[in-house]
Amino acid sequence: MPEASLRVAVIGSGPAGFYAVGALLDADAGIEVDMIERLPTPWGLVRLGVAPDHPKLKSVSRAFERIAEKPGFRFFGNVEVGRDLSHADLLQLYDAVVYAFGAQTDKRLGIPGEDLPGSWSATEFVAWYNGHPDYQELQFDLNVERAVVIGNGNVALDVARMLALTPEELAPTDTTDPAIEAIGDAPIREIVIVGRRGPAQASWTTQELKEMGELAGADVHVDAAELEGAVEDDTHTHRNMDVLRGFAAREPAGKPCVIRFLFFRSPVAIHGTDQVESVELVRNRLEEQDGRLVAVPTDEHETSDCGLVFRSVGYRGVGLADVPFDERRGTIHNEGGRIVGEPRSYCAGWIKRGPTGIIGTNKKDATETVNLLLEDIEHGRIKHNEHATPEAVETLLAERGVNAVLYAGWTSIDELERAAGEKLGRPRVKLRTWDELLEGAERVAETA
Ligand code: NAP
Repeated sequence: MPEASLRVAVIGSGPAGFYAVGALLDADAGIEVDMIERLPTPWGLVRLGVAPDHPKLKSVSRAFERIAEKPGFRFFGNVEVGRDLSHADLLQLYDAVVYAFGAQTDKRLGIPGEDLPGSWSATEFVAWYNGHPDYQELQFDLNVERAVVIGNGNVALDVARMLALTPEELAPTDTTDPAIEAIGDAPIREIVIVGRRGPAQASWTTQELKEMGELAGADVHVDAAELEGAVEDDTHTHRNMDVLRGFAAREPAGKPCVIRFLFFRSPVAIHGTDQVESVELVRNRLEEQDGRLVAVPTDEHETSDCGLVFRSVGYRGVGLADVPFDERRGTIHNEGGRIVGEPRSYCAGWIKRGPTGIIGTNKKDATETVNLLLEDIEHGRIKHNEHATPEAVETLLAERGVNAVLYAGWTSIDELERAAGEKLGRPRVKLRTWDELLEGAERVAETA
């Protein structure tokens, strides 16, 4: 490897961040990378978003571990950009910066009753059952008979499926213990998944849809009439429609819960006195506008009793001070990953393109960004600043009293969690609170 000539900071440690680090370290350009992460733990949504009953998807973390082993990599967890370090600090401490901090919030429905107790965003529920330390105080009362999930994406399916899992299905996962208990004890008999457009317009993937029909504790119900007339002009839609037709043709097997798919309906209000009691839906028809089929409300309303509503209508990016932000799209203003008007600054992943695609999509996306960064190095637009030393960031963080969790701190957490999981036949038992995580980072795991 040539002598290190450039130092790059990658902000955020999810898939886009790790794929960016991998591409930078593999470029053979003598680049050193510091990954800076707000949480004490890396892997972003692979740890805290991917559903715990999808261990295969989570196994991509092994690729991230291999990237972290490459020479020139350092991890600084528990360091929040925007609080502990600013954009200007990063440009002083590093020769270039790549923002890959994802989309931290959720889109709102903008309807009355959205904030009633019992109406949750999917992001809150997902973060809670996956052990995100900022969400462990939330009190999910799942003691209801009927739950409604708004949205037709993969996250809506994750939420509905997690709610429907049996204790036996939950047991071998790394779902947090409070979530296993709450879900296992929940008397939910029906979970309704509501799409504002038709079955052919849903954004879920076929594999994830198919899985809904393979649950031990839930039957699926689709009204065949709602599948009629759908335009199936591509293979993906055709496959999804086949799965839905299969569901519609099924006789219920008498499982304790039913997952019901409802299409062509939008929520217009969530009703209840002290908590969610029902959701009011309006029937939609589809209309082509600017080449896209959009949902247009009719005057047909229906009200559906339920004790819980999960709003799963997409994530939304949050900007960072002094970095140009496109409010409409919820992304950093960029061209192919180069931040517009900000030299030496780049972005990758959801904060670059919006909250779409699967984990692997971020590899191509991050590589595109890194290729532009490498091109800028080649053309002399990025030069090494002699003050950008490996020590400079450590000194500044120490001066500011920031207790960074280094990679060894994370591996200590990792070992503790895996050891606790091994005894129970689970991949890990997650440390869930900030205190537990920060303490875990200080200890070397005592293996069982
Ligand atoms: P998504 O795929 O964009 O789905 C959002 C859904 O919300 C769409 O059905 C959308 O309908 C609907 N919606 C938006 N605004 C609405 C409104 N005001 N009222 C009613 N419905 C509304 O997003 P996501 O499910 O949050 O997933 C994010 C990304 O992560 C996706 O790319 C997803 O594939 C990926 N992911 C993958 C997996 C996996 O591979 N297993 C798991 C989870 C997530 P319209 O289409 O009409 O806008």
